[in-house]
Amino acid sequence: VLTGNGKGKSSSAFGMVARALGHGMRVGVCQFIKGRSDTGEEAFFRRHSDVDWRVLGEGFTWETQNLERDTCVAREGWETARAMLADPSYGLVVLDELTYPLKYGYLDTATVLEDIAARPSLQHVVVTGRGAPQSLIDAADTVTEMRDVKHAFAAGVRAQPGIDL
Ligand code: ATP
Ligand code: MG
Repeated sequence: VLTGNGKGKSSSAFGMVARALGHGMRVGVCQFIKGRSDTGEEAFFRRHSDVDWRVLGEGFTWETQNLERDTCVAREGWETARAMLADPSYGLVVLDELTYPLKYGYLDTATVLEDIAARPSLQHVVVTGRGAPQSLIDAADTVTEMRDVKHAFAAGVRAQPGIDL
């Protein structure tokens, strides 16, 4: 689990994707975010035949103007993640920004934890996102909290390709 308010959660997870590929592993990535198709990591890893890259947040409003729809999109997305978690051909599964649908209640944390616990015994799972629920932290073997010391964004620097996306 990579959590906290500082920068480095998703990029750390994608660093592990590169490591896993270097060891010949097959990797699944599920991004629980509002669709963003311009990230460098997605463009790079989609070229790799051993990476199965899914963006599952398409349709989230994040403003809970339509709780029913957001819940539906999140649950559909979780079915995709769950299929990866049931497939021993994936050596690593990254659940990027999963903490948000948990925090907003779109997904039931206990169900998600059960599905993760039922994965093949040699499969690694990495979860990223701010505000990881305590039960997820308790269930994880390794947890890192990124602390925000400072970020250029606060000084008015917009997100930089290659660094922030
Ligand atoms: P990264 O993808 O760079 O590893 P992250 O996954 O830790 O960042 P998120 O909370 O997912 O961070 O935020 C996504 C975007 O916000 C990225 O463009 C990231 O660089 C940027 N960001 C991360 N932390 C901060 C921060 N403390 N202040 C401003 N922007 C941030
Ligand atoms: Mg992130």
